[in-house]
Amino acid sequence: MKQPAIFFDRDNTLIACDGYLGDPSKVVLLEGAAEAVARARQLGFATIIVSNQSGVGRGLFAEEDVRAVNNRLDALLAADNSAAIIDRHEFCPFHPQATVEAYRQDSDLRKPRPGMILKAAEQLNLDLSRSWMIGDAPRDIEAGKAAGCRTILLVDPAVEPSAATRESGPIAPDFTVNTLEKAMEIIEHDGRRETTDPSPQPSPPAVEAAPDSPARSTEAAIVSTAKLENLAGEILRELRRRGERDHSDFSVSKLMAGIVQILALAVLFYAYINRNDAALPASLLLAIMLQTLTIALLIMGRQK
Ligand SMILES: [Mg+2]
Repeated sequence: MKQPAIFFDRDNTLIACDGYLGDPSKVVLLEGAAEAVARARQLGFATIIVSNQSGVGRGLFAEEDVRAVNNRLDALLAADNSAAIIDRHEFCPFHPQATVEAYRQDSDLRKPRPGMILKAAEQLNLDLSRSWMIGDAPRDIEAGKAAGCRTILLVDPAVEPSAATRESGPIAPDFTVNTLEKAMEIIEHDGRRETTDPSPQPSPPAVEAAPDSPARSTEAAIVSTAKLENLAGEILRELRRRGERDHSDFSVSKLMAGIVQILALAVLFYAYINRNDAALPASLLLAIMLQTLTIALLIMGRQK
């Protein structure tokens, strides 16, 4: 029988990365990484890392540096938990707009395409239908789904969202969690269901659980929790997107409104200084017109 695998994204899933990482001395494991990898192997999964590394194509570092970072990651995992072994590293150095010509291509290996997963599956004779993809970005979910795996999106509030994380993907993950530990709980629970149920349903509704069965009650509770986590993850991502929109809330209309407001105040000031002048009504009229224009511009700015 073919072995299933858990495909892990690398950056901001197993290790911290605030951009492009080519320096092995800067590798830092994220919380729960070693435990998750060790647990995956104990459950009978092959453990594979699939990572986009366009930093190579951008000329920021070489493929050897990626391998050095991966070796350091392996060493840190083993130091944390001797059972935390990565069976295979796959990475994609290509990018369609790479500055290094040799790496400039729209590669099938690059997530959201499933090339790295399919390549590893062929090399290690893996059963993708019983495999999982865990990652922090929508492109990880797309790649996992395209390869026929089930998917878990990791939304860790403690990790600063990367550019890839902020992208919106067309495919919803099967589960959304905020820790690797919870991801492994879902996978372990799914495995128990497969071994105890001879004809497992793909995703049985929680309400079908028999009330007098403790195992079924636990299963229902975990499925319900997973659904709640999915919903919470969606809300969190929407709030983040709104936050980003608010920070970039600039428009030409608003800039113009600010300038016209200053002009209106200047005309009012002029009218006050020359309040005994015959031109006072005309000055006041001009100030009112400018103030009206300011309000109109602000309304236009809100409707952009
Ligand atoms: Mg990532």
